[in-house]
Amino acid sequence: MTPKLVATLALPLALSLGACTLQAPTSPPASAPPTATRPDPLPGVTLSLDQIREQMFHVGAGRRLKPPSWPGGARVAVGLSFDVDNATAALSTGNLDYEILSRGEYGAVDGLPRILRMLDRQKVPASFFIPAVSAELHPGMVKEIQASTLQHEIGIHGWIHERLPLLDNEQEEQRLLNQSLETLTRMMGKRPTGYRAPSWKFSKYTLAQIKAAGFLYDSSLMASDDAYEILLDRQPTGLVELPIERILDDFPYFGGNADGSMPALSAVYEVYQSEFDVAYEESGLYLLTMHPHVTGHRSRVAMLERLVAYMKGKPGVWFATHEQIAQHVKGLLK
Ligand SMILES: [Zn+2]
Repeated sequence: MTPKLVATLALPLALSLGACTLQAPTSPPASAPPTATRPDPLPGVTLSLDQIREQMFHVGAGRRLKPPSWPGGARVAVGLSFDVDNATAALSTGNLDYEILSRGEYGAVDGLPRILRMLDRQKVPASFFIPAVSAELHPGMVKEIQASTLQHEIGIHGWIHERLPLLDNEQEEQRLLNQSLETLTRMMGKRPTGYRAPSWKFSKYTLAQIKAAGFLYDSSLMASDDAYEILLDRQPTGLVELPIERILDDFPYFGGNADGSMPALSAVYEVYQSEFDVAYEESGLYLLTMHPHVTGHRSRVAMLERLVAYMKGKPGVWFATHEQIAQHVKGLLK
């Protein structure tokens, strides 16, 4: 990517950051600098189509990886995933508000154990993406996940849930990826094969780095309902994408700006179930993203258990880890 394009890409980010943290004055003070120093809010309008293509397809969707059948002749594949962020997103930004940090710690203290008990009751495996710092702060979590006979998967989810586009530093990103891999490999006793970017946010360096690191799959993008091969600058990478979706994530409903204000669990359940019903009809893939510090609360685990029981009530539902699903669809790349 050219330096000019890199600079162009950085502008919207600078704007959006400003929007979060600064109150824009209604009129400039007399001593305000000339408006010419303001970042361009619409850099895309002056780019050529080739430049736009270069930006759009730096990370792109390649071959659809929809298998003719799922293992055992199943009709649908279901992958439950939990991002064990706990307090790391706040810690990454230096936010030492202990109301926020303790809300994150709930994930380790009560959320994760309750979810693991539910998975044991229902006998379904899951994938846990853990920031390395989160694992180090509560090392019992890795042991608890590995203690289950269901052979849950553990994958990479950054060092301290750093937002990679904010970091915007190739060497630092590589250092943090290496640290994360070394830490989780040591704690797990084996190397993780799955990657999920913190907050699902790739920087312009992420795809090349995770390809070079030899991951089997990524699960941070959302260009399809089906698995697909990720393209890097329009070239095949051999990396499987297991796509996520915001409507299949607990955070928009219960975390962030919602901040616990969503009182009707039934509304979330309805979205989750409807998405599953169509995935079942289409013989597709159904992935849920949840967080122990968000979904691990009593009423929400009860809701999730109701959904799992509903799905188990249908014939031909394959519950698998993301790694197992990626292994299965990777065969289509040959
Ligand atoms: Zn996360």
